Amino acid sequence: MTPESPPTNDASTRPVFSVVVPMFNEAASILLLHARLSAVMDSLGDPWEVVYVNDGSRDATLPTVEALRDRDPHVAVINLSRNFGKEIATTAGLDHARGAAVIVIDADLQDPPEVIPQLVATWRDGFDMVYGRRRVREGETWLKTRTAALFYRLMRNWGQVELPPDTGDFRLMSRRAVDALLKLREQHRFMKGLFAWVGFPSKPVFYDRAPRAAGETKWNYWKLWNLAIEGFTSYSVLPLKLASYIGAAVALVAALFGVVVVVRTLVWGDSPAGYPSLLVVVLLLGGTQLIFLGVIGEYLGRVFNETKQRPLYLVERYLPARPAATGVASPASDHASDPRS
Ligand code: UDP
Ligand code: MG
Repeated sequence: MTPESPPTNDASTRPVFSVVVPMFNEAASILLLHARLSAVMDSLGDPWEVVYVNDGSRDATLPTVEALRDRDPHVAVINLSRNFGKEIATTAGLDHARGAAVIVIDADLQDPPEVIPQLVATWRDGFDMVYGRRRVREGETWLKTRTAALFYRLMRNWGQVELPPDTGDFRLMSRRAVDALLKLREQHRFMKGLFAWVGFPSKPVFYDRAPRAAGETKWNYWKLWNLAIEGFTSYSVLPLKLASYIGAAVALVAALFGVVVVVRTLVWGDSPAGYPSLLVVVLLLGGTQLIFLGVIGEYLGRVFNETKQRPLYLVERYLPARPAATGVASPASDHASDPRS
């Protein structure tokens, strides 16, 4: 565990549910989100907390969640020292979540909190990883849907983990699934892949993904492209193998071509023609080499980043939920005390 890990959990003050919400410039969504979320969580009737992770927002996100915490004892606030990106912000939230079941949800209300009771019901049926699966992707362009589909197909065929399609980070995890996930401390965090790597009994719950409630998406195509590379290179070394196969094929063709040239020269004598084919071969080989240098660079860069062993994130301040809400007094609930704690 990293030094910034939260204080050890005292089982008696653990809430049953923790909701983790990564937030980057979400001031406009927070109040609506919190209202809907608390209504749903209260209806479950067990102690709960919500961990709002402010991921270096440049708007009023931090003061807004801090004001919320003053009013509502269910609220915990983590303020990261800067923007670390959604994947790491989510990890920070998971590190500090104390519940026997942990729910991860986006701040923009694209994942409706009203689905949570279904996630909880499936968890109570004995599933460790209950993930929300989108029925429709509303408010997304044709291109985004197509490219996403292509990515999932590639990952299914060549990645070493099985990524459930149409699934985001919206999910519920049991305590043992969270603990397992938190053992994976790699810098390059492709959460969908990490979730899948953990395994345990998993089950989807279908829901309709809504368009963003307010603000705008933080993803553009360049970021999505990088996320796709992240995902692919984290789970597959196929591109590296491809280099050897294509290299071997090109070398073989080149060798055959060499034989042809020698034979031709012996039979018909030296001919200056052939400059075009020469150029083609040189360019082809040069291009292939550059491509695979790039591929190797992608992997090497990841190795480099991992070897630095930096902490994943730094916490500027952590304000835990107040015990009143997360129910010191709930020995009645069989989920409150986790045998593994
Ligand atoms: N987010 C974050 N850090 C970032 C970018 C996004 O914590 O650097 C949060 C954001 O506030 C939201 C969630 O991640 O709660 C999903 O972001 P977004 O809605 O932009 O992604 P999309 O829904 O388009 O995949
Ligand atoms: Mg969104």
